[in-house]
Amino acid sequence: MGQAKEWSIATLGSHSALQILKGAKDEGFRAIAVCERGKERPYQLFRVADEIILVDSFKDFPKVEQQLIDKHAVVIPHGSFIAHMGIDETERMRARYYGNKAILRWESDRSMEREWLTKARIDIPHIFDDPARIDRPVIVKFHGAGGGKGYFLAKSPADFAQKIESHPGKKYQIQEYIIGVPIYIHYFFSRLTGELEIMGFDKRYESNVDSIGRISARDQMALASVDPSYVVVGNSPLVIRESLLPKAIEMGESVVEASRGIAPPGLFGPFCLEGVLTPEQRFVIFEISARIVAGTNPYVQGSPYTALRYDEPMSTGRRIARDIKEAIAQGRLDLVTQ
Ligand code: ATP
Repeated sequence: MGQAKEWSIATLGSHSALQILKGAKDEGFRAIAVCERGKERPYQLFRVADEIILVDSFKDFPKVEQQLIDKHAVVIPHGSFIAHMGIDETERMRARYYGNKAILRWESDRSMEREWLTKARIDIPHIFDDPARIDRPVIVKFHGAGGGKGYFLAKSPADFAQKIESHPGKKYQIQEYIIGVPIYIHYFFSRLTGELEIMGFDKRYESNVDSIGRISARDQMALASVDPSYVVVGNSPLVIRESLLPKAIEMGESVVEASRGIAPPGLFGPFCLEGVLTPEQRFVIFEISARIVAGTNPYVQGSPYTALRYDEPMSTGRRIARDIKEAIAQGRLDLVTQ
């Protein structure tokens, strides 16, 4: 079993599956999409899957797991994968899994994530444990709120008290609101090469915050009942000022380094730092994703950054498949899978 063609790469049909499956095929693997019945069309239409396994719901993944094991599949996690399966189920998975499962809890629990970023000496927004101490603009985030729905801004303890009334019983975190531009940094760290790569950057297109600015301030006031929301609808490519790259590289290396202490053997594969770049050119990071992010989707043909390093189109999906292929060739698949 020392060649890619004897193995398959499988993932759930959602999120970044198109580039994961295409990347798998480009590297010589069989590509398997596990799709919810009725949602398989993109994977057929774009011809990215050699096989589609249908399930009624992603929750039924354990029912098809043995099939994947029989097909020598390596399963690639992505955002929707973890959201649908849950961490417990993912940890119980018997099929080969690309990545370090021990890191999942560190990225999904807001306080553990904070501890990790602090250990890595990354700048993070101030957290207000006591609403009475709010002394600057804050963003209030609910736990488990997928995609920023219901998040609200507040500027004082009184403003907060009034707005939280419409969210009774919900767990939340009050974060300092950082003024600047949101930037998402895509990384890849290979355990085989021991090297960090910058795969690209993106910015998100969020509804409705990205359209509120199209309404004049006067009309915004008149529409006072329109609360901002941060529901992601897509991602746009971004190239950052070259002088910001050293800091971006340094931050990526520090979170990998810090991860070794908290969740051995540490973070590897694709990951993303999500934050705001201030006018003073300070990166303030509010989230880390320890897996492929959908912001890499514009780069199926590679990004301007992967074009510098590779002489062929290198998406993050393909980079994952390349890592697995090299691990197989070196007889070290256990190094990158669990
Ligand atoms: P996901 O888990 O899908 O990444 P989420 O629900 O955790 O999303 P965040 O990414 O934390 O949401 O935040 C949603 C949006 O809110 C961000 O894209 C950004 O525009 C804005 N935002 C979040 N935190 C801050 C902050 N501290 N300062 C300024 N803007 C922020």
